Amino acid sequence: MTTATTTTTVTDVALLDPERLGREIYMLVEDLYPICRSITGDGFRQTMRRLKREVPLSLYEVASGTRVFDWTVPREWNIRDAYVKNSRGERVIDFRKHNLHVVNYSIPVRRTMPLASLRPHLHSMPDRPDWIPYRTSYYKDDWGFCLSHRELEQLPEGDYEVCIDSTLENGHLTYGELLIKGQTADEVLISCHSCHPSLCNDNLSGVTVAAFLARHLGQQQDLRYSYRFLFIPGTIGSITWLSRNEERAQAIKHGLVLTCIGDRGNFTYKRSRRGNTEIDRAVEHILKHTGHDHSVADFSPYGYDERQYCSPGFNLPVGCLMRSQHGTFPEYHTSADNLDFVTPASLADSFAKILGVFQVLENNRTYMNLNPKCEPQLGTRGLYSVMGGTHIKQLEMAMLWVLNLSDGAFSLLDIAERSGVAFDTIHQAATLLRQNKLLRECASATTVNKASVGSKE
Ligand code: ZN
Repeated sequence: MTTATTTTTVTDVALLDPERLGREIYMLVEDLYPICRSITGDGFRQTMRRLKREVPLSLYEVASGTRVFDWTVPREWNIRDAYVKNSRGERVIDFRKHNLHVVNYSIPVRRTMPLASLRPHLHSMPDRPDWIPYRTSYYKDDWGFCLSHRELEQLPEGDYEVCIDSTLENGHLTYGELLIKGQTADEVLISCHSCHPSLCNDNLSGVTVAAFLARHLGQQQDLRYSYRFLFIPGTIGSITWLSRNEERAQAIKHGLVLTCIGDRGNFTYKRSRRGNTEIDRAVEHILKHTGHDHSVADFSPYGYDERQYCSPGFNLPVGCLMRSQHGTFPEYHTSADNLDFVTPASLADSFAKILGVFQVLENNRTYMNLNPKCEPQLGTRGLYSVMGGTHIKQLEMAMLWVLNLSDGAFSLLDIAERSGVAFDTIHQAATLLRQNKLLRECASATTVNKASVGSKE
């Protein structure tokens, strides 16, 4: 049987209410913003617990000291309070006002010292005198405070009481994981680092959009692929996951690292190491057909967790989707990456684009023209419209392309790329042609997950 029901649609992007969706994602960003996250500790757990109210995440705990490839899971860091007080006992730097004020992973400190001794531990940005920088000291025992350059310059000479009420002890690294099972065991990976404290674009935009994508996919029937969502601490989290799931990782057929997708900038896509995999082509196709400026960068071994997924021992087809690219916008890793820097509209738009990518993956099939000797007569089948209209013309053109290239060698994405017609129009044309018994699907190489895999011809 050939019916339209065998092709999956991950719900039409056009059916979404972008304003409402944007507001909902933004509200989750607002909820998560105040939490002091790090690569381990209760801030990370608290973030996962909040996400669990949206999606049924499983939390995993990996003990400090566990070897994960060439790395070791670090001691767990927790912090209750931190401040620098002047001689009058006033908090001149106060962790309670902004969690970026403390160098993330600072060792505990309690002492009084003159400004000259304190000064090497204070970090500011002279070129952005009102912003607080974000600094970390994950893998070396150190401590420090970050503050605006203006505040730093106002500190008079004198003795200061320094307190960092933190602990750095054996504990666990936490991560959140969710698998949404589809018809096949082949997986699409969505990975986002969730370890930055109060930073919205770098970290929370990816985390929240991923959570909403997971919630949305969880409501879909008949997904072709299984979707694995990882909410992990950057670098050590993906290394840990890969070392515990070396075999499972082989099921990942397509993947995206999501970060910096909430700002007002244009999209940036960083290709997988392999560079021309289906995920690379699907993302580039979707971005090209938005009609907006965007940029595509080749893989480089610098950035986020795509570095680990694309390390030569795995070489997975995983790219990284961003709007403004990390490290290139002034607000990056500063207190200016705040709730004003991300917008509900950008978050909703990023959600829709990623869903568009999933739709390409779900529907990218290869067909065989059942009437390959000359063109079939479309008019007698009611497939040629007598009426005009741009979309009708495009659909007719798409049908001609699909019929011509469907010899078993070209997928619908190949046809979309070669014809310059948007994938969804190509897919719509293929569906019509199937309904009219002019195409049959070629067997795909995907791994069957369940007994009922829709209809096969
Ligand atoms: Zn970052």
